[in-house]
Amino acid sequence: MFGKYDVILCGKETLDGATGQMGSQLAERFGFEVGRVTVRAARTKWGSCSARNDISLSLFLAALPRHLQEFVIIHELCHTVHHNHSAAFHALVDRCLGGRERELEGELKRCRIPIVAEA
Ligand SMILES: [Zn+2]
Repeated sequence: MFGKYDVILCGKETLDGATGQMGSQLAERFGFEVGRVTVRAARTKWGSCSARNDISLSLFLAALPRHLQEFVIIHELCHTVHHNHSAAFHALVDRCLGGRERELEGELKRCRIPIVAEA
């Protein structure tokens, strides 16, 4: 369903700003204590969370529909509370997502990080 993406035409800085901002806004909305939120041109992962609660998000999240961007970010934010994929972690993610974790996870699995030609 989401197998193909339009080529990303906006500048890297615009995407960085929007993705980073969404990360900070969601952290605030759900009350997560995060370190730095950085956006990188990561091609193998949508996001990650360090032991120091710094969150790294892929620039290519911008190619996903908004609800999946939020899903990825909330997943990483929940790692600031549980640094693992335990049942408690998934329960927290599910709560933040209004009970839609499984559904969104399945949807995200069908998405690929788009291949973007370097300018
Ligand atoms: Zn995870």
